[in-house]
Amino acid sequence: MSSRNLDQLYRRVIMDHYKHPRNRGTLSEDGSVVVNMNNPTCGDKIQIHLKLDGDKISDVKYTGEGCSISQSSASMMTEAIKGLTIDQFHKMAFVFSEMVQGRDYDEDIELGDAEALQGVSQFPARIKCATLAWKAMEKALREHETQHQSH
Ligand code: ZN
Repeated sequence: MSSRNLDQLYRRVIMDHYKHPRNRGTLSEDGSVVVNMNNPTCGDKIQIHLKLDGDKISDVKYTGEGCSISQSSASMMTEAIKGLTIDQFHKMAFVFSEMVQGRDYDEDIELGDAEALQGVSQFPARIKCATLAWKAMEKALREHETQHQSH
């Protein structure tokens, strides 16, 4: 596929997640972690609702507002990470971060639709939009760890 066609495909995937978000919503408060994260430079907001089963991500949802990159990224991320272990998530988050910054990344790690955001590397101002949901998810995992330290 030519790079121009690939760009168009990626743009379609991004707009599809923006218009038809996956896993948008909230989880019951019972045992779930809720965190907020903002990207003030663009005005993006993401709230992550996370439920773990041991070290496995058993359910994750998000709400938020902002640009199409930030919101579609959250939709793609929740779809890609459900069922992963915490360790697998951190590996994937690292690969995603390298990809959107235009660095070499481990292509063996399957990012799903989130790969459509690789063009963001050409627009440095949008990198924070793309990584907002992933950073919020890392914050949710830290929060979960804090809540469970006393047990
Ligand atoms: Zn944004």
